[in-house]
Amino acid sequence: MTLQQYHQLKSIPVVGGQLYVKAGARGYPDPLFSFLANHIRAQGEHALDLNPGVGVAGLALLQQGMRVDFLETSRAALRCLEASFGPNPRATIQRGLVWETPIEHYDQVVLVLPSHRGGQYVELSLQGAARALKPGGTLWIAGDKHAGFDRYFKWARALLGTGEITVRDGGLRLAVLTKTLPSPEISDTWTGFEIAARGHSLVGSALAGVFSAGELDPASQMLLEALGDVGGASVLDLGAGYGAIGLMLAAEGATATLCEDDWPSVLSAQTTAKLAGLDVQVLHCDVDDMLEGGMCYDMVVANPPFHVGGQVILEVARAFVLAARTRLKRGGRFVLVANAFLAYEPLLRECFGSYRYLQQSQRYKVLECVNFRR
Ligand code: SAH
Repeated sequence: MTLQQYHQLKSIPVVGGQLYVKAGARGYPDPLFSFLANHIRAQGEHALDLNPGVGVAGLALLQQGMRVDFLETSRAALRCLEASFGPNPRATIQRGLVWETPIEHYDQVVLVLPSHRGGQYVELSLQGAARALKPGGTLWIAGDKHAGFDRYFKWARALLGTGEITVRDGGLRLAVLTKTLPSPEISDTWTGFEIAARGHSLVGSALAGVFSAGELDPASQMLLEALGDVGGASVLDLGAGYGAIGLMLAAEGATATLCEDDWPSVLSAQTTAKLAGLDVQVLHCDVDDMLEGGMCYDMVVANPPFHVGGQVILEVARAFVLAARTRLKRGGRFVLVANAFLAYEPLLRECFGSYRYLQQSQRYKVLECVNFRR
């Protein structure tokens, strides 16, 4: 896969139309999303798809005659939703936080439980869903019994009032709940904590569900400690999260650009930067898609993801490496940290010709490549 291929949207045929998908976007192919789409039944006129990914379940509701609002956090998924549903007058696409839904607005809410983001994020999603429903509206949740479904179903029932599990298929579960209780309040969403490395520290702020919210990730710390002086270098942080790496370097005088696919993470990085008085660029970005064409940097840093919506997929990590190659000035350095068992080395050799280890432990390795080619 080339970087151009990574960024390409593909149209796939589905019953009654077509749907755009791309690498790095959740929801297709994904058995849980298909399971929900196969069993969902329209109830009322207006639905909210609260964790739509590329929109498989919402599409099923559109086909059954409903108006559907898609609320999504991932830039990669939003690109697909715009392409699939942008022209549809019965659909709207919104970038937003799952707990900032309009109150008592919808007849039906559908939610694939975002269990890979942790219990706090699931709880907030359920609160957002419960608030968004009109009294008597229905919440349809799909999940996996091996990823906490039974527990989350109980939480949902306590928030909504009544409900039951209606479909079981292997480990997959679908439950339908009816809102008989008043709209719940939203729990706390922010965590404040210290990010300490390289002999200085920052106060980090992160929203629920953001990668390593609450403490500096040990792999990111290892990357930070392995870097030498960054002085006034221009630094691109790919997959920046709440900003651990890029903002620590900005605090030392680097000019930092942070790219991040997840909207709550973008808001977290912007808040952390603002509180620290750091002037940085934080972009809601699928890998590098929001950077200008010829924009190049002295250094690219990354702690790449290897999960997309909970599934192990290395295509995003591969795109990070390809983007680093494209976005480095001649002589610029790419430094990444990865789990020790992930075999990045063949790809780094293919893209950069060579690499070296800056740090290694039993769990992680920090690799450095120099761009000699341009
Ligand atoms: N650099 C941060 C986060 C590392 S985890 C830290 O060290 O704490 C990897 C990050 O990559 C996550 O925040 C995830 O949301 C982000 N990510 C996943 N897919 C992405 C994509 N397509 N484009 C940009 N960022 C992505």
